[in-house]
Amino acid sequence: MNQPREMFSIDPCERVAPHVKAIAPYVPGKPISELAREFGLEESSIVKLASNENPLGPSPKGLAAARDALRDVALYPDGAGFALKAALCRKLGVAQENIVLGNGSNDVLDMAARAFLGAGTSAVYAQHAFAVYPIATQTVGAQGIEVPAKNYGHDLAAMRAAMREDTRVVWIANPNNPTGTFLPWSGIEAFLREVPRHVLVVLDEAYGEYLPPTDRFDTVAWLAEYPGLLISRTFSKAYGLAGLRVGYGLGHPGVIDLMNRVRQPFNVNAPALAAAEAALDDAAFLEQSYSVNHAGLKQLEAGLRALGLEHVPSKGNFLLAKVGEAARINQALLKSGVIVRPVGGYGLPEFLRVSVGLEAQNVRFLDALKECL
Ligand SMILES: *Cc1c(COP(=O)(O)O)cnc(C)c1O
Repeated sequence: MNQPREMFSIDPCERVAPHVKAIAPYVPGKPISELAREFGLEESSIVKLASNENPLGPSPKGLAAARDALRDVALYPDGAGFALKAALCRKLGVAQENIVLGNGSNDVLDMAARAFLGAGTSAVYAQHAFAVYPIATQTVGAQGIEVPAKNYGHDLAAMRAAMREDTRVVWIANPNNPTGTFLPWSGIEAFLREVPRHVLVVLDEAYGEYLPPTDRFDTVAWLAEYPGLLISRTFSKAYGLAGLRVGYGLGHPGVIDLMNRVRQPFNVNAPALAAAEAALDDAAFLEQSYSVNHAGLKQLEAGLRALGLEHVPSKGNFLLAKVGEAARINQALLKSGVIVRPVGGYGLPEFLRVSVGLEAQNVRFLDALKECL
């Protein structure tokens, strides 16, 4: 845990609850502009493979809709997000009452924490799981229970065993970030069947669109059977809309109603709502995102193998490479204009996480890595 720092010694900070001061801040991927400033590099010469962004850019249909929506930004957006929800209803076969929209799916996770957690409660998550789970848990004064990973992934049996009477939420990412590990859906369903009924299971499917067809599964069908399930999804990855911030949660109307009570009234902006609605129909772009990623994963795996490096098998749009002295190698990569993500903060000090880029970007990363080793 972080020690309260000197800067908290001014009076208003001193009175802030210890659980807030103890939050380990989220460390985002370094922006291209920042690296350009630091090392005096041309922005155009920098390759960023650090935030699992879509290397194809945004869905063209989404982008066009966002541009159109800019005309009306003097007006507040539709706080209920009716049109986007209607599109989701058509696509997923759910009702408006089953959907909560978020300013990115991070916002959905945060709303779940604010509605279902608080002082005197606990939440369970896996070691090496997405950093937002401990942050959302701690922010509201709940206790985080971190369960040791199994083969870098979630150990569902151990997570089930770690649950207590005061546990209200369990966070599961499938596939998980930053490890790329994937649990068979049959295991998740077995877990849903045995989880105590007072626990909300948050199933984070941020990378669902990148799953090979044989691993895809209609988890939405589970909602009718498991009222304690909340599925979260995002437009940030395969749809290429990370900068607009839009995602959604799917759950029982009771769960969704509580989340809407803690939701900021206009949490999703108008261009984001319009872009997400249009992108949802952009099947061609989604297909291209999948195939570019599939080929890129293979390229990175082969490239790492050729360098004699191990990696964790990934079903996401990124790969965890075991490079050894990751901090030193990361610095050297930055100097050569390649941004990847160190994951020491995730308890993985020997690894770097690299997002799958376009073919030439992957080559650039592998060449730079070879120089650094
Ligand atoms: C990227 C990511 C998200 C998506 O975050 P947004 O707020 O929707 O951009 C959610 N969960 C995981 C595990 C992720 O890696």
